[in-house]
Amino acid sequence: MSFSQRLNKVPLTSRDNLSQITGKLEVNLRLIDRVHVGSGGLKLKSKDPILIKRLAKEIISGKDISRIGVEAVNLVFIEQDFVRVGNKVCIPGSTIKGLIRSRLELMAGKRGNDVVASACLSIPSRPLTQPLPIGTPGWRHVRIWDKAVTVLREGESFLEEELVSELCPICNLFGAPHISSRVFFNDFYCEDRCEVTTCVFKDYGMRLEVLEPNSVFRGGVILRGVTLEELGLLLIGMGFDGNQFKPVLIGRMKYAAEGFGKVRFEVIKLIVSEYAIKYLEGVGISLRCIDFNYIIDGDELRKLLNLAFNEARKKFPDIEPFSESEEKDRLNVNLNLTRCSV
Ligand SMILES: [Zn+2]
Repeated sequence: MSFSQRLNKVPLTSRDNLSQITGKLEVNLRLIDRVHVGSGGLKLKSKDPILIKRLAKEIISGKDISRIGVEAVNLVFIEQDFVRVGNKVCIPGSTIKGLIRSRLELMAGKRGNDVVASACLSIPSRPLTQPLPIGTPGWRHVRIWDKAVTVLREGESFLEEELVSELCPICNLFGAPHISSRVFFNDFYCEDRCEVTTCVFKDYGMRLEVLEPNSVFRGGVILRGVTLEELGLLLIGMGFDGNQFKPVLIGRMKYAAEGFGKVRFEVIKLIVSEYAIKYLEGVGISLRCIDFNYIIDGDELRKLLNLAFNEARKKFPDIEPFSESEEKDRLNVNLNLTRCSV
């Protein structure tokens, strides 16, 4: 079987390797729009218990089932809370990791068939031959990421008994079945201006608990023996374009609703272990030592982010920065966006 997009593979990095960059990246996530990240605990609420009883009686008595169905469609709505750990509103680290990884996978294939892609698709799907019709599940996702979902890309399989020697750079960094990750995401907690409200989507029969714009979540990413170009990949996944962090979309209804899902990452500082000193000084980055911690922030951090970004663009040229949030704004009128009412 021939593939349209071949994979740009790299040698498997030893999971024990701590040289290069081992440390913690302190990261903020600032909400630009309202955001909902669901707890998974779904509550179905009935709007009208008297009507439900009447319909139940009609079903039992064998009345016209299709007419009962029409009435029943609008009876129930979904209610979902924001994720909480303890009493604190939180975005799970796994959600952040999934967001960054899938953005990289989609960016890698964005330019079409003639690209050697630097990412396999961790969730492979049959490429689309034509755009999904309006209203079918995922149609807005397809409009926004277009080429990335219409190409056929070489896949990867990681069988337990097989010895993996090379793999795509994204699996090498983020892990794959039987291959552990080299980046670990903490849960992000809302620490600043956390305003929790609810939003109702009438067309969807749904009430979501949301965080209002300007809420700030704080979290971190632990790096384990990561190279400069891999740090660059991580930054591109977070929306970095070499100058600034562009907005990205997160959570439920991010493609479907206006004024919903837009956030911006901010990298605050990098705290590294002594394993990283030699490597970082070798690329011209100076570190400050405070209380036995080696810290990179301010101008030196900006220099490191730029170096890492340029290195990633050089090694993985097919992964071009892309903001699905800007694309959503650009396509706005064609996306039939819905609005929530408070
Ligand atoms: Zn892969």
